[in-house]
Amino acid sequence: MVDYISGLNDPQREAVMHGSGPLMIIAGAGSGKTRVLTYRIAHLIENGVDPFRILSLTFTNKAAGEMRNRIEKVVGTEARNIWMGTFHSVFAKILRIEAKAIGYTSNFSIYDTDDSKSLLRSIVKEMALDDKVYRVNSVFSRISGAKNRLIGPEDYINNAVIQADDESARMPHIGKIYKQYALRCFAANAMDFDDLLFNTNVLFRDHLDILHKYQHKFQHVMVDEFQDTNVSQYLITRKLAAVHQNICIVGDDAQSIYAFRGANIENILNFQRDYGKENVKIVKLEQNYRSTKTIVEAANSIISRNKNQLEKSVFTANEDGPLIDLIKASSDNEEGRLVASSIFEAKMNESLTNNDFAILYRTNAQSRAFEEALRKVSIKYRIIGGLSFYQRKEIKDLIGYLRFTVNQQDEEAFKRIINLPKRGIGDTTVAKISVIAAEKQESIWEIVANIGQHVAGRSAIPIEGFANLIKSYKLLLDQKDAFEVASHIAKTSGLLKELYDDKTVEGLARYENVQELLNAIKEFVDNPDNEEKSLSAFLQSVSLLTTADEKEDDGDNDKVTLMTIHAAKGLEFKNVHIVGLEEDLFPSQMMLESRSDLEEERRLFYVAITRAEKRLTVSYAETRYHYGRLKMCEPSRFLMEIDQKYMKMSKLRSAPSRTDFDRPERDRSESTSTGSMSFVRSLAQKTARSQAPQPTVSHTPSADFAPTSTAELAAGQRVEHAKFGFGTVKAVDVNGTERKATIAFEKAGEKVLLLSFAKLRVV
Ligand code: ATP
Ligand code: MG
Repeated sequence: MVDYISGLNDPQREAVMHGSGPLMIIAGAGSGKTRVLTYRIAHLIENGVDPFRILSLTFTNKAAGEMRNRIEKVVGTEARNIWMGTFHSVFAKILRIEAKAIGYTSNFSIYDTDDSKSLLRSIVKEMALDDKVYRVNSVFSRISGAKNRLIGPEDYINNAVIQADDESARMPHIGKIYKQYALRCFAANAMDFDDLLFNTNVLFRDHLDILHKYQHKFQHVMVDEFQDTNVSQYLITRKLAAVHQNICIVGDDAQSIYAFRGANIENILNFQRDYGKENVKIVKLEQNYRSTKTIVEAANSIISRNKNQLEKSVFTANEDGPLIDLIKASSDNEEGRLVASSIFEAKMNESLTNNDFAILYRTNAQSRAFEEALRKVSIKYRIIGGLSFYQRKEIKDLIGYLRFTVNQQDEEAFKRIINLPKRGIGDTTVAKISVIAAEKQESIWEIVANIGQHVAGRSAIPIEGFANLIKSYKLLLDQKDAFEVASHIAKTSGLLKELYDDKTVEGLARYENVQELLNAIKEFVDNPDNEEKSLSAFLQSVSLLTTADEKEDDGDNDKVTLMTIHAAKGLEFKNVHIVGLEEDLFPSQMMLESRSDLEEERRLFYVAITRAEKRLTVSYAETRYHYGRLKMCEPSRFLMEIDQKYMKMSKLRSAPSRTDFDRPERDRSESTSTGSMSFVRSLAQKTARSQAPQPTVSHTPSADFAPTSTAELAAGQRVEHAKFGFGTVKAVDVNGTERKATIAFEKAGEKVLLLSFAKLRVV
């Protein structure tokens, strides 16, 4: 048996062996939180707790799988019986069991984001609203935000504050759209991702007998990455733990990175209040086992700038390790090349494998330059996120068939497959079917299945064919496992044949992808962990995969990992590259509206740094294509916030300045020129606030940064800037002793420059 206890330090052991009652483990990155949670579960099982009565909630299904494997090494196959997974997957399972209570059937569909948006688009159209005003992304995010705060359509419509907010966003009808959307999902026997949590709350609120059942069932509730739970998730855990009060939460407020999705650090603070301060056992873990001293201390120097954080310190007994390397590239493509060659060299010199490397970026779109560069030096990579396997068209098509076979009310699946492969059923016919269904108050399937009664003549024939096909598939569901049904559907629906007949390279790849999906279904059926082998069970498992759960499609596991920082939570790699450290990209301009947004971006940077075990490299590009235009970039303020003694060489000495970050974006003075002074000034202000040591960066304005006399500058004049090129002055603003000019540059776009620093020449 594995002796896991001896591999723990004192506070870790205390947390693992804690008996009953609420337990809160709030600790820094890499301090063994996940390890403690894992061994705590093993320990409980060893001490007689039934694994069926343990509920453990993780951030990805993959993390759950890894945890389960470790526990299995201690307690054996019993580990398979633990209720473990993401909030969405665990509660989807409970909703399936209890579906009837809230008016669903257990074969309900799960709408992915594309389905949700497609439905919203139809609704906006049907309500004759302007889709340029009611943009689908904004509508979707407002509805999603409401659900995560547990606000249903009626409450939404009746809430004056929300109504006022929608009006000021010029979208007064969101409430009505929300109501219609909820009705349509319900009629389609479908739930979207947010519904899985929302409806769990409804289930537990309205059906106390069901709540009691689960409250008694789950003797222990554990939550990893607790800092990123939203209100809806928080309430579920609170209700479930109310009877036994055995709840163990694990988190790090410094790593909270999902506020934009409604996650709430307050939950950590509420925890003590909810369970009674005197009852909650608090364990702090302060020793980091993951990273070198350099990395741990550099990360500390960053996070200490945030005002809103719980008091804790993180230290490590690990070696100092190499200093942080900085790569400065002239363009995004060059950044790709430099990072790829740095990985290539490190692999040679330190005999590392591809798996030891990760490239972390702020947005998915940044991956391209790295992909190209890695391919050129023949280094294999995997991209987590991006367009995932299950988002590919051919995969969604077959899944559409599978979904409709399981649930004939699924409107989005119906729309996808009714004329696929082409059987001559046009949009008008489909629209007509919807109208008849609405008039008769029947489901679309009822009309389709009895089409002869509603539509006369030849146009009924292909629909009849489709209905018969689906009816024949339905008959298989009870007799065959998921793989048998899916292969039958792939062959007889005509989908595989259509791809097979397409002899282009893309056609071949799509054909192989469909085969790969069938392989995945076979694997699912053969996996002893899955008790249920039905198609419905398979569909549930795939619709709840998070982007981090994707599997390799070529069987080779040794690859450099490319992913966003959000997806990297909880993971660790020997060598980490954090790329694209530029103002407006990271911190992201889109996210920066207030100080708290900046603090969230900074926490994200903290998460990124703390993924590295041995070596950290940060990089930025001086130019980057953005929406098809070449854009000048400035190094991120975060680079300067790292205590410079941990950086290999401060190439930032002559770096463009930062202005005070507290100022709102629009009047933050541009200062690509010397602004060193204002950088030092703002840095001084920041350090005074955070009482962090003053970074040891020296700032010597270099000669070519010397400002030109621009005393006479006025609106309408043409000027030349050393970096931005030619432009026209739009306005000059005087604020105390500072003069600022707004200049529309021909290539670089509009900039606000501080005239005391700007390198301008009147032409
Ligand atoms: P994060 O905040 O990133 O989620 P975490 O606090 O969950 O990190 P873990 O992932 O559990 O930390 O642990 C970080 C690393 O340190 C892992 O490789 C783990 O195996 C190792 N580790 C944790 N505790 C110990 C220990 N007592 N002895 C040796 N190694 C340890
Ligand atoms: Mg962890």
